[in-house]
Amino acid sequence: MAEIRDAEITIVGGGAIGCAVAYALARAGYRDIQVVEQGELAGATSGQAAGLVGQVRASQERCLLAMASVAAYARIEQETGYPADWRQTGSVRIAMTAERAAEFRALAAVARSAGLEVEFLAAARLAELCPMLDTTGVTAALWCPTDGYLQPNSLVMAYARAARDRGVSFATHTTVTGLRITGGTVTGVRTDRRAVVTDLVINAAGPWASAVARLAGLQLPVVPVRHEYFVTRAVPGWHAGLPVLRIPDLRLYARAEGPGILCGGWEADGLSLDPRQVGIGQALAVSPDWDVLSGFAADFARLAPPVTQAEVREVFRGFPAFAPDGRFIVGPVPGLRGFVMAAACNAHGVSGSAGLAQHVLESLQPDPSPYVRSLSPGRYLPRAWDWESVRARAEQVYENYYALAQSPRS
Ligand SMILES: Cc1cc2nc3c(=O)[nH]c(=O)nc-3n(C[C@H](O)[C@H](O)[C@H](O)COP(=O)(O)OP(=O)(O)OC[C@H]3O[C@@H](n4cnc5c(N)ncnc54)[C@H](O)[C@@H]3O)c2cc1C
Repeated sequence: MAEIRDAEITIVGGGAIGCAVAYALARAGYRDIQVVEQGELAGATSGQAAGLVGQVRASQERCLLAMASVAAYARIEQETGYPADWRQTGSVRIAMTAERAAEFRALAAVARSAGLEVEFLAAARLAELCPMLDTTGVTAALWCPTDGYLQPNSLVMAYARAARDRGVSFATHTTVTGLRITGGTVTGVRTDRRAVVTDLVINAAGPWASAVARLAGLQLPVVPVRHEYFVTRAVPGWHAGLPVLRIPDLRLYARAEGPGILCGGWEADGLSLDPRQVGIGQALAVSPDWDVLSGFAADFARLAPPVTQAEVREVFRGFPAFAPDGRFIVGPVPGLRGFVMAAACNAHGVSGSAGLAQHVLESLQPDPSPYVRSLSPGRYLPRAWDWESVRARAEQVYENYYALAQSPRS
């Protein structure tokens, strides 16, 4: 990996977002870009993700963003020469109540208005697509044939390699520890290796994004909230070609991971970190919470009874970053030239990385769309925060991920 150097553009963070942004900028013709990563590429949140990519969303804009991301993943290998291990298995969203079935009808209308193909499955077709499920109690099943999943590590490496082919350099094991700001303009970054000159800093530091923003004197509410899922050893009937499942009434998602079951969910009582306590370079360790994980298994057993008997092979976990309004924080910081945010992915940062990188690119242009402008960090500045209520709101976004009244984001 390259050494830290002077560069026109310095991206802090080598996860899905930092690498996607590096690739998008290089592809758009920006030159002299480096990514600075305190550990390994994809070594933090991105490497833990389940890789689900879903396009059915409550708003047309989110739907179109997800569709653009799917189109990007479907062609990334052809475009870059590097695979993201994208599998277009389709997905089935399963309702277990009448209210949820009604919500699915509204979602289907949004999807169709965005040009996304979706279809309600008759019981026989559901059984054909998902023979491993006990579908007693299912009130509706919404099929999206173009959804799927990818391997997050592969995606990050595909972005990084393709960016490197276009001249981007990557300084890993290098921590950004400070910013040099002269007359309201960022002019450099300090690291644990050496200080360098740069014109533009892009903060793609995931759950550390608030800490990196503090280096610029900004108080931005990017709240890490714990999330985890388990993967079992082989279970009869499960294989990698099965559709991705979302069961919002059980607060769960699942898919096959090879011959095993991957199952995760959004517990009702989210656990956040206080962004003020997350320092630069601080390790964010999280142990498996077996009470929560066995709750996921017990709930999923209503549809897949063998899950409770299967041996758990691995637990993936981390702290995806949430904003209190559940929206991305993207774009230049008003009043501080040369500092750009690419954060608060709200547990959508792998699937949404291609689209989010396009938003960052657009935010750097003279006339971004109203939607991209609405993601500006300006909406949070300047503000004296009640940090406990910020955390509570971010936890609510997490807890309500699949709630009826909220937009389904995953
Ligand atoms: C268990 C789990 C399952 C998930 N499943 C999904 C899913 O199915 N689909 C989906 O879309 N999303 C999923 N997510 C969320 C997804 O992982 C995140 O939204 C995404 O990884 C965010 O990417 P990022 O690049 O912003 O953050 P990260 O991957 O955390 O990258 C930020 C990087 O910045 C680096 N960094 C921080 N501070 C500094 C510094 N001062 N100097 C240098 N480097 C620094 C860090 O080391 C890190 O590598 C899941 C998350 C978890 C934990």
